[in-house]
Amino acid sequence: MAQRIQPKRILLKLSGEALMGNQDTGIDPVILNRVGREVLEVQAQGVEVALVIGGGNLFRGAGLAAAGMDRVRGDQMGMLATVMNAIAMQDCIEQLGGRCDIMTAMTIEGMSERFNAHEARRRLQAGAVVICAAGTGNPFFTTDTAASLRAVELEADLLLKATKVDGIYTKDPAKHADAVRYDQLKFDEAIAKQLGVMDLTAMVMCRDNRLPLCVFDMFAANALSAIVQGAAIGTLVEV
Ligand code: UDP
Repeated sequence: MAQRIQPKRILLKLSGEALMGNQDTGIDPVILNRVGREVLEVQAQGVEVALVIGGGNLFRGAGLAAAGMDRVRGDQMGMLATVMNAIAMQDCIEQLGGRCDIMTAMTIEGMSERFNAHEARRRLQAGAVVICAAGTGNPFFTTDTAASLRAVELEADLLLKATKVDGIYTKDPAKHADAVRYDQLKFDEAIAKQLGVMDLTAMVMCRDNRLPLCVFDMFAANALSAIVQGAAIGTLVEV
């Protein structure tokens, strides 16, 4: 398989829904454990790992607003949902014998530290997994955008977006049998065609900061560890 970038530091973005497994809401402990193991495996290969986890398995501001709630408050609930997922992942990683720090976009005294890019880089270098939680701290943003922002701030070599499909397709593969998967793609093309894997704000952030993005299927066996060794798995998006 063709060799790609072999990153020294990655930011892995997991959606909240990825943690839900086959449940309707919440966190499936089996999935959590599997992700935790894979993260530690990659770390054992010498790669520093930062994580951003979404909150869609618990709350999304847009959904709460559609049900009549004030959008800003709904987004605040969404951001707090990402903190709950982060705490669950921290607990899992530590039970597996790893080190894990949570840094949040706003102060949650007694539970996490406030995000600080320089300190986060030091923790990564010292061998901790750093979970960047609470999104960007602002309503009307997504955790995809938070992931691209934190990846740039942390000087990650690669942003990995774990999805349910194995890359970016010409059209939705769940609806179109003739959809074709891209092996590689330019950000400008993904943005122009609105290829719908990450929101545009996140894509533009990656493009403008020349941060490569790999979209892959988290549940394909050993995908994460193969990708960090340079295997051409998923779709690689570059400038
Ligand atoms: N959110 C926000 N600002 C951010 C990131 C997230 O307000 O910077 C809120 C928003 O309501 C969002 C929710 O947190 O719907 C959960 O994040 P997201 O939908 O990105 O989670 P995912 O789809 O990845 O599970």
